[in-house]
Amino acid sequence: MSPQAPELPLEPIESAEILAIGTELLMGQVTNTNASWLARRLAELGIVSYYQTVVGDNADRARRALETALGRADLVILTGGLGPTEDDISMAVASEVSQVPLRLNQAEWERIQGFFLRRGRRVSENNRKQALLPDPGVVLPNDNGTAPGAIMTTTRGGRLRYIMLLPGPPNENRPMFDRYARPLLEVRARHRLVSAYVRLTGIGESDAEQRLADLIHGQTNPTLASYCSTGEVAFRVTQYFADRDDNDQSPLDAMVAEIRRRFGDLVYEVGDRSLAQVVMDLLTTNGLTVATAESCTGGLLADAFVALPGASASFLGGIIAYDNRLKTSLLGLDPDLLAREGAVSEATALAMATAARERLGSDYALAVTGIAGPTGGTKEKPVGTVWIALASAAGTRARLLSLGGARTKIRETTVVYCLDLLRHALLERQHRTGFAEIKGTCS
Ligand code: ATP
Repeated sequence: MSPQAPELPLEPIESAEILAIGTELLMGQVTNTNASWLARRLAELGIVSYYQTVVGDNADRARRALETALGRADLVILTGGLGPTEDDISMAVASEVSQVPLRLNQAEWERIQGFFLRRGRRVSENNRKQALLPDPGVVLPNDNGTAPGAIMTTTRGGRLRYIMLLPGPPNENRPMFDRYARPLLEVRARHRLVSAYVRLTGIGESDAEQRLADLIHGQTNPTLASYCSTGEVAFRVTQYFADRDDNDQSPLDAMVAEIRRRFGDLVYEVGDRSLAQVVMDLLTTNGLTVATAESCTGGLLADAFVALPGASASFLGGIIAYDNRLKTSLLGLDPDLLAREGAVSEATALAMATAARERLGSDYALAVTGIAGPTGGTKEKPVGTVWIALASAAGTRARLLSLGGARTKIRETTVVYCLDLLRHALLERQHRTGFAEIKGTCS
């Protein structure tokens, strides 16, 4: 479909609202991830949102919510309620409120029938309902399910309003928006926002913010905002373009460069890659491998690698040696060392990393041993005491962490510190050997 879809007027869009339909959302059985995902996409398009709404599968309340939203925003995106059953009401409600009739769309009806036939399933008469689409209107094809989406228009207060309908399942909703709806919005969005994300680890949010206090207080355009997640801080730098065709991104680039300058190697990415992905990319581009030996993280560190597509290029595997007997039998640790130094000690962490590297034959090995709690802490080694270690051809190094929070938080934060320990070692190696640093990309 061309972004100029002739069926759709070319009135500019400044503001949007998301209206999610589904009783399961109200009951807390399903989290409204469609709204957060779509909100971010709208922000990227420079379309502002002031409200989001959730209503159940109730036509009357859905009608009222849609009417209210149309009184406030140029575009209302309804998600969910496009299924074939009685309680799927979104299309009928949108038709009623906009006064745009629904007609059987023969092409979509044939596609829906084909969708079932290919899967050897019988198409029910109910599914015909999903081919009843606004006319006039634009059909948004569903490449991953049966329910097509649609866009129709109406007027409120003398202004043209767009109503967009997207299916509820995120694996249908997201590709439909990106492939078919986004190009239509791009040419209608009046303004433009461009954001770049600078991601850091090894520093707390308040400390990081303090170092940027002057930039944060003086911000107008671009704006600067911080977000924190386990062990990480991200700064979003957003430049607003009143004119969509303005391409001068130099204020944004200058602010990103200044943040990079202030934080140096604490910045692991300018862009969207996760810390694990950055580490994996450093390993694979340099043809290096890693293995793990884990006690209190119990495989969480290995999972951070395995979760990435293509992990096998660099991640060889890991040993989970939780009990001391396995630290001896699987990693060959000296029982005397364990008795003398304790399982949670620098010596044990270093021995685990060295053994993993030797036994698993990797270039790098990361090891973890700690007390994740809530029990097991002592005065000398309270809950949150974690030793992490790294072994490589250049030698071994260990780091003591004193982490706060509950068991899950301690384990997750430990993974971030381990990845960062390896990242620093890989950067040092690059500086030594002269490999080009992998630079993050601005988005
Ligand atoms: P279907 O054709 O599958 O019935 P639909 O458009 O009617 O799709 P719903 O029936 O409302 O969508 O929801 C189907 C499923 O999609 C829900 O059970 C839920 O798993 C997911 N879903 C719906 N709305 C949302 C939402 N706002 N955020 C995240 N997931 C959602």
